Amino acid sequence: MAKDRVPIPDGLAADVLFLADRTCCVCRNPQRKIQIHHIDEDPSRNELSNLATLCGDCHSDAHTTHAFARNLNALVIEKYNVTWRDIVRARLTMPSASEAEKVEYSAELLQEVQMNCLRWLNRLLHFVPEDFYPEQVNAYPWQTVLERGFPDYSAENAQRYARLFNVHSGRVADRMEQMVATFGDAIPVIVKLKIFRVSKSIRNEAHGYGWLVATSERFGEEMGQIYFHRRFMDTVEPLRQLYDLAEQQRELLFPEGRPPTALATI
Ligand SMILES: [Zn+2]
Repeated sequence: MAKDRVPIPDGLAADVLFLADRTCCVCRNPQRKIQIHHIDEDPSRNELSNLATLCGDCHSDAHTTHAFARNLNALVIEKYNVTWRDIVRARLTMPSASEAEKVEYSAELLQEVQMNCLRWLNRLLHFVPEDFYPEQVNAYPWQTVLERGFPDYSAENAQRYARLFNVHSGRVADRMEQMVATFGDAIPVIVKLKIFRVSKSIRNEAHGYGWLVATSERFGEEMGQIYFHRRFMDTVEPLRQLYDLAEQQRELLFPEGRPPTALATI
């Protein structure tokens, strides 16, 4: 019943080795040297489905015909072979799929960081008189505020904006820190560091604002104006920097094409 051995064509042998990641399909021990085995033991039948990679140990088990040998018969080897090829294929394709998902996910989080920076800006717009900032649509949402500046200092205005600092600055900082705690792995390290710095500084500014309101009688109008504006500027500027950094990082994730920017809300 022994048939003539027909050499396995090089291309077919390469396919067999590739589909098995050059690993024995039975024990799957990547350290072991492998041979190509004819599953039905017909050495002339060189077909992809009839060829399996086996290590020396498994190969000799396959050729053992004792009744109590490990039953590594053709049917069993075939099953091992098919499932191993599936596993190798999954292993080869999965990393790229999950890589793409990771990129997508990081981009979403970076956009969320940007939206959070804009939240403070939106609150500011809510607090200022309606006509304070000229109505215009800018691609860059910080532009209007940076051009027009901030409200002037007065005892009345100090009260007017107290909630913006006392409540909303803390909320924005909380939110960002929470994002890092929950999704940290998917946020680029450089952005995480910036988030920590920014949330710390806007909390400081909120604290400074409280102090400014409480001690406003101690300094003249000129100093009051300087301190007052600085609280606004030193809150807006770190948020704007974080927004820009997140934008840059988002662009790096998509080298072939610019992703849509976070919605401009002013
Ligand atoms: Zn083996």
